[in-house]
Amino acid sequence: MKLKDLGEFALIQRFASRFTPTDASLKGIGDDCAIIPQNAHRSWLVTTDLLIENVHFLLPSISPQHLGHKALAVNLSDIAAMGGTPLYAFLSLGLSGELEVSWLDQFMSGFHALAQEENVLLLGGDTTRSSSGLVINVAVLGEIDPDNIKQRSQAIAGDIICCTNTLGDSAAGLELILKNACCESPFATLIERHHHPLPPTQEGKWLGKQKAVHAMMDLSDGLDSDMHRILEQSKCGADIHLDWLPLSDSLKYAAAKFNWKAEEWAAIGGEDYCLLLTVHAQQYEALKEQFRSQFKRPLYPIGYITSPPNQLRYFNKGKRVELNREGFKHF
Ligand code: ADP
Ligand code: MG
Repeated sequence: MKLKDLGEFALIQRFASRFTPTDASLKGIGDDCAIIPQNAHRSWLVTTDLLIENVHFLLPSISPQHLGHKALAVNLSDIAAMGGTPLYAFLSLGLSGELEVSWLDQFMSGFHALAQEENVLLLGGDTTRSSSGLVINVAVLGEIDPDNIKQRSQAIAGDIICCTNTLGDSAAGLELILKNACCESPFATLIERHHHPLPPTQEGKWLGKQKAVHAMMDLSDGLDSDMHRILEQSKCGADIHLDWLPLSDSLKYAAAKFNWKAEEWAAIGGEDYCLLLTVHAQQYEALKEQFRSQFKRPLYPIGYITSPPNQLRYFNKGKRVELNREGFKHF
């Protein structure tokens, strides 16, 4: 059997069970971060993400500052997904000897600016030669009060599923980059969402403290794929209403121009780096109001958690529909 026939998640499942921690308070493979308890008031959160040239980014189309920012931002998004506070980063680079030093200086400026903004300190890493493209790995260590940890496994039938930003913008931005579409202003916003994601640190920390929030994760692979991760871990199902998905004006404009189905971009497109969460139904209205007064932005409802395990259904204007496209697959 080839890896491309197995896929990323089935591969991880093949070995994950052999590494199940015997200490039940440790949480290993399966969530946005590993959880390592330290004492009654603090647990460590650890996450790592790999960015590979021509898989995750195209060197000619992203500025070195943006790439440095993004390499850290995608990890901070995983810390936010648990409700935590990021503290320390480690950065490993595989580089060609032909790379301009000025490019690397700018890359580190982008990384440093976000690290400063988020109070994250770079504590180490590794640097080697790469013979086939640029390789970037970042690991981030964060902390959290154990009472506030939100996991993918905590969704309960009846919960309202919410997200914290408009969906599909980043994927549309990537499509525009690949199309070489010019940077007129609505398009520039989409490309910005793709190249310069803002990690949802403050939202994550605040939502972590709310008892009304059950499961939480960040959206990196796309709603359809990431929703399945919550359903697997929580052993439940979900009904998503495509006509409720929050769409930016920029995405609607691009969709009209290129004849795209905007709601499918929102359901399938990856790299939104906002939060996906499930909220106790009776406490949803109060939480929505508190979120709005805290962040001056809406918490968007997009569907409901249901009982049948792993059953993900889509509806449009109340009618059952199927998605016509598949999300990004590594293999
Ligand atoms: P995310 O998108 O939040 O970064 P992934 O969906 O990529 O998370 O990964 C799912 C889970 O599998 C995470 O807990 C991650 O730590 C784990 N994982 C992914 N690849 C590996 C690997 N090669 N070895 C061990 N664990 C892995
Ligand atoms: Mg994640």
